[in-house]
Amino acid sequence: MRGAIKVDIVVIGAGQAGLSSAYHLMKLGLRPGRNFIVLDKNEKPGGAWQHRWPSLTLSTVNRVHDLPGMAFSDVVSPSETEVRASVAVPGYFAAYEERFQLPIYRPVAVKVVCDRSGRLRVETDREAFSAGGIINATGTWETPQIPSYPGAELFAGRQLHSRDYQTAAEFAGQHVIIVGSGISALQHLDEISQVTATTWVTRREPQFRDRQFTAEDGRAAVAIVEDKVRNGLVPGSVVSVTGIPWTPALKAAAARGALTRLPMFSEITQHGVRWLDGAEQRADVILWATGFRSSLDHLAPLQLRGEKCGIVMGGRLATEVERDPRVHLVGYGPSASTIGANRAGGAAARELATRLGLV
Ligand SMILES: Cc1cc2nc3c(=O)[nH]c(=O)nc-3n(C[C@H](O)[C@H](O)[C@H](O)COP(=O)(O)OP(=O)(O)OC[C@H]3O[C@@H](n4cnc5c(N)ncnc54)[C@H](O)[C@@H]3O)c2cc1C
Repeated sequence: MRGAIKVDIVVIGAGQAGLSSAYHLMKLGLRPGRNFIVLDKNEKPGGAWQHRWPSLTLSTVNRVHDLPGMAFSDVVSPSETEVRASVAVPGYFAAYEERFQLPIYRPVAVKVVCDRSGRLRVETDREAFSAGGIINATGTWETPQIPSYPGAELFAGRQLHSRDYQTAAEFAGQHVIIVGSGISALQHLDEISQVTATTWVTRREPQFRDRQFTAEDGRAAVAIVEDKVRNGLVPGSVVSVTGIPWTPALKAAAARGALTRLPMFSEITQHGVRWLDGAEQRADVILWATGFRSSLDHLAPLQLRGEKCGIVMGGRLATEVERDPRVHLVGYGPSASTIGANRAGGAAARELATRLGLV
């Protein structure tokens, strides 16, 4: 077996959650490169933001909260609302990494983390590391979810996930079935229905929110997800419990008849989809806007999951894995938002550094 480089804490992932955690470790007085390092699979700064589809601009994202210690507006002027999120946010992250000289190594993909004589062995596609603890901040982008429906392999058209969506124009002249009731599904529907025929199907009735989303609503949404993970349940995303903002773009989409929603079909056929009552819809494309799950497969050897299939979380902001407190998850469950990841990074850094006797 290869030797392992010894370090106190390995942060895995350099998105909002990993950067916030690294910042707080540094502020606690931990030495970058000696006490902690950050490993990131991407070639460049930006976390998942660098991969978001081109039509997602600063005016169409929910909101990107500032990382601790440096404002987004220091890098991107608040008036630049039409700039691509996939350009603006990575630019901000790059400036942030530079300003704080964070010890980020990339591209380094963590393949597996396992226990070795009381320490955590972090195997990557390059070196191996031996850590006292880890802060896992690997997000969800790497693990798109597509539910399985009978006949999917028969479909002669194109199937893609939101992750691979680029622009509505490529679907002109085709019939597109959009599956999902989240913000991404509605953005795709709005854009694609302006250039071609669409059918919208969702498992559950979509929840629209007509009024302004308040800080109180945000806290309530986070509390629901936090309660789930403290009880060892699989978390839904925070965004999934906040509802869909009823924006002017969606009102316009409704006015042109694009928001007529159908329940889920029961099977996929060669040329489209079929419902239980026998109704059919021909289609050229099925676009699965069906979300993501947390990218945690590399932690499987640690057997963190409990009997309810989720990971029982503890600690002040529910970042500490109860079964193995050497492991913190940031950007998971209640902290799976830019604002949540910021706060959780601070809590995880403090709790893990304290546990390891580093502060
Ligand atoms: C389309 C879309 C729009 C969104 N808009 C908003 C919004 O407006 N506001 C908001 O608050 N939230 C939004 N979210 C949720 C958003 O993803 C999170 O809030 C936040 O950006 C996620 O940050 P993160 O650090 O957890 O993950 P990421 O940004 O995904 O970063 C994870 C990093 O970990 C790396 N990584 C993954 N696996 C490994 C591995 N095995 N080894 C090494 N590195 C690894 C990845 O390469 C990546 O760089 C949106 C999500 C989506 C899908």
